[in-house]
Amino acid sequence: MTPIGLSNRVLSLKPSVTVAMMNRAKQMQQQGVDVVSFAAGEPDFDTPDAIKQSAIDALRAGQTKYMPTLGDMPTRSVIAEKLVRENGIAGLTGEHVAISSGGKHSLFVLCHCLLDTPMPGERPSEVIIPVPAWVSYAPIAELAGGKVVDVPTTPESAFKATADQIRRAITPMSRLLILNSPSNPCGTMYTEQELRSIAAVVAEAARTIAPRLVILSDEIYEKITFGGVPHFSIGSVPEVAERTITLNGLSKAYAMTGWRIGYTGCPGDWGRQFTSAMATLQGQMSTNITSFVYPAIRTALKECGADAARMCDAFARRAALLTRRLEGVPGVRTPRPTGAFYAFPDVSAHYGTRSPAGKRINSALEFCEAALAEAHLALVPGEDFGGCGKNHVRISFACSEQTIERGIDRLAGFLASLKRV
Ligand code: PMP
Ligand code: GLU
Repeated sequence: MTPIGLSNRVLSLKPSVTVAMMNRAKQMQQQGVDVVSFAAGEPDFDTPDAIKQSAIDALRAGQTKYMPTLGDMPTRSVIAEKLVRENGIAGLTGEHVAISSGGKHSLFVLCHCLLDTPMPGERPSEVIIPVPAWVSYAPIAELAGGKVVDVPTTPESAFKATADQIRRAITPMSRLLILNSPSNPCGTMYTEQELRSIAAVVAEAARTIAPRLVILSDEIYEKITFGGVPHFSIGSVPEVAERTITLNGLSKAYAMTGWRIGYTGCPGDWGRQFTSAMATLQGQMSTNITSFVYPAIRTALKECGADAARMCDAFARRAALLTRRLEGVPGVRTPRPTGAFYAFPDVSAHYGTRSPAGKRINSALEFCEAALAEAHLALVPGEDFGGCGKNHVRISFACSEQTIERGIDRLAGFLASLKRV
């Protein structure tokens, strides 16, 4: 009998390791195992009350019907005003804003609006990604038909690509350059000067060999900065403004991961066309996001800056504690995080060992599997972030200071228990 089977599309899709590790840690905790989790890429704080109240009020007032696909204009306009005021993206209006069900959904829809599956004999559109980078960019871009071009970075350069590296990666097939500052998983940030240099390279390439090149600037961690590098939006640079899509969302800044709110903004005539393409695709996919959430978005962006700042202060204290504790752990090298809530230590000095249960440790994946099973410490292995990530593990410090202390104690104990083979 012919097996029923599944599509090649889904069979070839790599599952998200960040989602998988987060769920495994939560499941073990529910089963009563005392797991210390450094896996979850989500703030441990609760959503601020004023935001919750706005959604409750809208729900009670009956805002429970379908709404315009990309969101109501008052909410899109509040997002546009934020992008103009805080990010310096001139000329952006509500018509240039698309609201989707989380930043990941925005990414998915936008990739399908920009990339095509190549026809036989055609060359694929190229998506340039400095790596290590968030695990969802490459699979989603590839699913949409793009060919990923990695730009390798190193801990020595704080995992940042230089303008020169970007210049060398650009070809006539270049379609999308994905930047993410502050970075998941690296916890590092580009300076304004570095981003201006990259913008100049893109502007020059767009005039010459790569007229269709677009920048995707993922700024979802913009409110979580503590290393003295001010956040800068490349979409504010006039030469590239009308070919830069700024992606953001409320998950991280306002502790709203479960609400599923993401958005894109791109000014100018092409930005309007792009946004209307988002409406076409999303209109055949999910339609609008949950209707009674729109007022909560307005409340968050207009009234909850102090809440975001309070949470950022806590992340700053946690980053300092984690950095201090990691300095005392032998054979672990960690570039200092300056933003987001991740540290990305190189643990490869411990490869070539065996765990107390006899497991070989020759990769980040094997390292994390043994740490979870034997030390009940959940980390995310670095392989799927790409490039030098295979030597690294990701630590999320979106957890209490006490959890950080306990987790690093476990990490140090686990490392001490490894025997060289
Ligand atoms: N971009 C980056 C870099 C992220 O880490 C995340 C979090 N998973 C997202 C986008 C999307 O987050 P969400 O879908 O919750 O908005
Ligand atoms: N972005 C978070 C992370 O990297 C949440 C999981 C996901 O969407 O990847 O852990």
